[in-house]
Amino acid sequence: MNKEKNKNLKKIKNKLIAHKKAIISQLQKFAKKSKKVKGDYETKFQQIGSHQDENAIEVSNYEDNLSVEHELEKELQNIEGALKKTSENTYGICSKCGKKINPKRLEAMPEAVLCIECSAKKR
Ligand SMILES: [Zn+2]
Repeated sequence: MNKEKNKNLKKIKNKLIAHKKAIISQLQKFAKKSKKVKGDYETKFQQIGSHQDENAIEVSNYEDNLSVEHELEKELQNIEGALKKTSENTYGICSKCGKKINPKRLEAMPEAVLCIECSAKKR
């Protein structure tokens, strides 16, 4: 029916998939896939040495990685959600209120599944 729209959706899908791959390769640098929870990653604890200052570095690295891991994981979940929406033909529609998401928002953040209002309320 709407060729232009389909073409656009395909572009978005490719963008999302590329983004997803980039995030996964970033995650794999310091985390490993959880065997228990699907789609979950666990930050690896790197052993640098056993001196006290080395231990301190290990802990601080681990904590840094952990927060990055959570950010990336959240992003990954959003991307998965947006990808699902592209195949269900509901892409660009807010998951919460069902209103159309501002195209400018989608352009800046293709993985957005909530409109600005709902996303603001969530926080
Ligand atoms: Zn909404």
